[in-house]
Amino acid sequence: MIVPPLDVRPSSPQETEELHSAMQRVVDSGRYVLGDEVVAFERRFSGYIGVSHCVGVGSGLDALHLTLRALGISSGDEVIVPGHTFIATWLAVVHAGARPVPVDIDPLTYNLDVARVAGAINTQTRAIVAVHLYGQPVDMDPLLAIADQHGLPVVEDASQAHGALYNGRHVGSLGVAGTWSFYPSKNLGGIGDGGAVTTDDAALAERVRVLRSYGATEKDGFEVAGFNSRLDELQAATLRVKLDRLDSRNARRRALAAMYQDSLRDSQYGLPSVPPWAEVVWHQFVIRSARRDELRRHLEQRQIATAIHYPVPPHQQPLFAQYAGCALPRTAAAAREILSLPIGPHLSDDTVGYVIDALQDFDHSR
Ligand SMILES: *Cc1c(COP(=O)(O)O)cnc(C)c1O
Repeated sequence: MIVPPLDVRPSSPQETEELHSAMQRVVDSGRYVLGDEVVAFERRFSGYIGVSHCVGVGSGLDALHLTLRALGISSGDEVIVPGHTFIATWLAVVHAGARPVPVDIDPLTYNLDVARVAGAINTQTRAIVAVHLYGQPVDMDPLLAIADQHGLPVVEDASQAHGALYNGRHVGSLGVAGTWSFYPSKNLGGIGDGGAVTTDDAALAERVRVLRSYGATEKDGFEVAGFNSRLDELQAATLRVKLDRLDSRNARRRALAAMYQDSLRDSQYGLPSVPPWAEVVWHQFVIRSARRDELRRHLEQRQIATAIHYPVPPHQQPLFAQYAGCALPRTAAAAREILSLPIGPHLSDDTVGYVIDALQDFDHSR
């Protein structure tokens, strides 16, 4: 058996057919940028998330970058970010001209440790970015309470958590804005790059709309130096096909995660913990092992592909050399021990059973 980490091709002839006809519709329309498809997708996605506005942009990185700019963040400002995240979270802050200030993680959920946020706030702090990593929602209520006390906006980087719920509400609807990536491997992925911002703040949505298209306002005047970062019509059309299947695909991810949880409960692996208020969508299923590299080789020999998200945290990257002295011991420990197991709607129960057997063999071999 060969177990790929992910397969993003259509999962049925029906889906292939719908994607082809969506693409055909765009080709025939002659309207390829900012047409009806983007408007239709923005309406559908904002409805799904439960907010009044959605703005389609070019990528998840741009979604966060443009949102920070639309919030007025610029040079000299500080933005609080989790230590353990995809590098794009930090890059968006840098591109807005601000300085990322990392907070260490909760070792059980891998998300920003909310209890440490207050200690990172100072007079330069302008915003907090909460990343719902691996599809696991951040504990938003206490985070929003701290942010409110200091008058700070919380932006949710929801690029790994399409469909995840916090106390029954969609992530991406809880902070001042949610930012999304539709990169093909995400839970909701297109057939290329794409992104979006969701918000209930009409003025913020309008500022992102202006920034995504050169800074042009309604009157065709230019008051800010904007960008070219728009969700294109082909992505918008295919994303509607994918959005119809998001909940069932997330349900499948949950079923496979439950298989891992049940079978590995008594093992020596560290398993992800799910707080009672969280409906997780398992963008990744991440376990911990002190013998991670050895385990990874053992699985590779059995044709099981795994990944590490992420082997080197942002603060240890050459780009962020100025953070070299930064103490984020939980982030650093996670980077040494974590392993992302195969998960996704492309996997059968038998395939995951095969992965579990291999994991149990390794666990018993010590
Ligand atoms: C994927 C991702 C991004 C960036 O999205 P792109 O569309 O690749 O630019 C940002 N943040 C997180 C947490 C991500 O997983």
